[in-house]
Amino acid sequence: MKDGWEAVIGMEIHTQLATASKIFCGCPVKTGGEPNSNTCPVCLGLPGALPVLNKRVVELGARAALSLGLEIQETSVFARKNYFYPDLPKGYQISQYDRPFSANGELSIMTADRDEHGRALEWRPMKIRIERMHLEEDAGKNVHEGLPETDKYSYVDLNRAGTPLGEIVTHPDFRTSWQAFDYVNHVRHALRWVGASDADMEKGNLRCEANVSVRKVGEEKFRNKVELKNLNSVRFMQKAIEFEIERQIAAHESGEGVSQETRLWDEKKDCTRVMRSKEDAHDYRYFPEPDLQPLAVTSEFIEKVRREMPELPDAMRDRFADVYGLSFNDASQLVASRDLAEYFETTARITANPKMSANWILGELTRELNNSSRSIAQSLVSPEDLAELLTTVEQGKINNNQAKEVLSEMFATGNAAATVSGPISPMQTLWRMPVSAHGISSLRQQGTQRRSRRTSTKRTCG
Ligand SMILES: [Zn+2]
Repeated sequence: MKDGWEAVIGMEIHTQLATASKIFCGCPVKTGGEPNSNTCPVCLGLPGALPVLNKRVVELGARAALSLGLEIQETSVFARKNYFYPDLPKGYQISQYDRPFSANGELSIMTADRDEHGRALEWRPMKIRIERMHLEEDAGKNVHEGLPETDKYSYVDLNRAGTPLGEIVTHPDFRTSWQAFDYVNHVRHALRWVGASDADMEKGNLRCEANVSVRKVGEEKFRNKVELKNLNSVRFMQKAIEFEIERQIAAHESGEGVSQETRLWDEKKDCTRVMRSKEDAHDYRYFPEPDLQPLAVTSEFIEKVRREMPELPDAMRDRFADVYGLSFNDASQLVASRDLAEYFETTARITANPKMSANWILGELTRELNNSSRSIAQSLVSPEDLAELLTTVEQGKINNNQAKEVLSEMFATGNAAATVSGPISPMQTLWRMPVSAHGISSLRQQGTQRRSRRTSTKRTCG
């Protein structure tokens, strides 16, 4: 950023809560069906249809709120946000306004500046104030692509209408595009971790908007801000904010100034362009939704949700560092997903050597997983099997290099260490390699069978 200037950025995230049915009716939430097939009088907005709040929305909303450090309000109120658009046949969206579901969030994220290749420099904690997260219904979709005479017609698909959303709004606390990038990644990770949302931007179940303005360093007042939309990935969002910061600084310096407007990110041209100006801004005429009671949430309910939630990733990362003596980097990588974190803990508990377990999981095992495009949950080597192998190394029965080869074979065949290893001679190692190379598909198949047997045993036991 140009010297003497600073950016002021606030973020809004819409995240789809992972319920099976819609927020105010029993229609299923699913994508890919026939247009307008998952609809009923309520989500079609037919006169006289009455909304009924889906309890699961409140549970998942509470999980989302707690995972982001928000306070759940004892009473929140649904309100009508009035506007007309073809994908909103009622003429209003049921949302929340002055009494949101949750508010006053304080979230600690890790953020870093990046070098010219986008590589993180030094990670440090940053506090973000989240103003609120309210609950609302999604609108339908206007569809044009692949349909006839779209110069004359819009096609309306209401399958999405009534899908539950949480809208998460921050204070304008970000000063760089990378802080906003790290924040959105943090939120996605947290929401997925607690099962509140799939938070997948590509599928559109997490969408974000950025409010961006710039000012001279030391200035207290905010200048005109621009709302950025159409940010289809975190990376595009970061690029759009970066572009907008530079554009606004140049516009202020040239004396042209910045208009308060909404701009879209054009991913083909790598720039933002005007979507609508402030003059078209809506006055939504909010008023309380007369067909829904205020939503009252008891402290017992909140405590129950809290008890049912898993340990949050940041707490787990810090515990891994404290209890197991892992570096911040290793601990952060191990909490990339709950599956990976659990895999590590199981391995470390059996080997009683957390450092060695972390090294092998983040090193050799991750390499094998990447090479075969598998996730940790699909690993043919169970944590118990890996622990057994590492114990053999610790006891000096085989060395590191031999263990790597054994792991490779365990990974290809799904066989446990004991059946693969034993005292290994260089001859055996040489003999083994061509076998895995030639018979790889049949060995993999055996591995798959073994894996599915294991899964089914788990199911009947669990
Ligand atoms: Zn419906």
